[in-house]
Amino acid sequence: MTEDIEFTDPNGNTAQPSESGTVIPETDRSITDHDIARYLLQYLLDCRGICHENMLLVVLGKLQKYTQDPTSQVCSTDKLVEIIKGINVKLNPLGYKISSVGHGMGKNNVSSMLKDTGLPSNNRFYVYVNTVTSEESKLATRFSTREIEFIKWCVEKMCVSRDCEVIIDCPIITEVDRIRNDVSWNKCITYSVESSEFFQYKDWSPIEIESLLFKLCGLKWFAKDENGRISMDLRCSVELEEYLIANGISTCENCHRLALQGTRCTSCSRSWHVDCYQHRITHIGKYCPCGESILQNGMYIV
Ligand SMILES: [Zn+2]
Ligand SMILES: [Zn+2]
Repeated sequence: MTEDIEFTDPNGNTAQPSESGTVIPETDRSITDHDIARYLLQYLLDCRGICHENMLLVVLGKLQKYTQDPTSQVCSTDKLVEIIKGINVKLNPLGYKISSVGHGMGKNNVSSMLKDTGLPSNNRFYVYVNTVTSEESKLATRFSTREIEFIKWCVEKMCVSRDCEVIIDCPIITEVDRIRNDVSWNKCITYSVESSEFFQYKDWSPIEIESLLFKLCGLKWFAKDENGRISMDLRCSVELEEYLIANGISTCENCHRLALQGTRCTSCSRSWHVDCYQHRITHIGKYCPCGESILQNGMYIV
């Protein structure tokens, strides 16, 4: 349920990062691989620690115009992955890393929310995450003790899926039905929560709750949709992935990452992200490992 979230940087310059004046060095006409890595990391942090792969490829392509070394001028996903591996080696002692994650709503839905880069659509995002082991200390690097109590309370609520209405024009439902090429299923579940439920938190005033929820949405921890429902955004799901899996949220049968959006088999509850569902139907088969047809006996996770 992240339909209203814009995957752009705070200045809205994601597709033309050089025009922001913050990424491309203006005086130094020749930069090294080390500089490229440093500027890419800076760009990711400027985007609040989360950025779509195509946006990073656009930035990489622009940076490479300033390098003299021909081997540094190859702009491809492989090159980006190689640079990020190098950055991660340096971040490791600091307890951070850049992690890549596919968005459960699928590449077509993700692309429809991005500025057109001319690059093929894909669902991959890069997220700057804390690698310390305990969930508590991950939160402690960014939030006060009092805020952590509230966030944990909210996340617990969002670990429980609930039935919701099948809304035909919901992007995930539209995409799943396009893949199935069939009329909609009649069952839909969600991990999102009506924002009014969060206002039942005791000891906090509505203004305090409103302002922390606003902050969490800005940090891409939570996302609020046009109906006022709040869900965990990618940063939260990546940072707290192990905790969330331990708390009962299922993983995708294909990629084994957290499945907060996608489809689920009605008889055995195996789940797939939208693109992973398409991958299974196209390359593996139309049946769930439990024997049911995943084209017919499924539900949406929105
Ligand atoms: Zn998956
Ligand atoms: Zn099944």
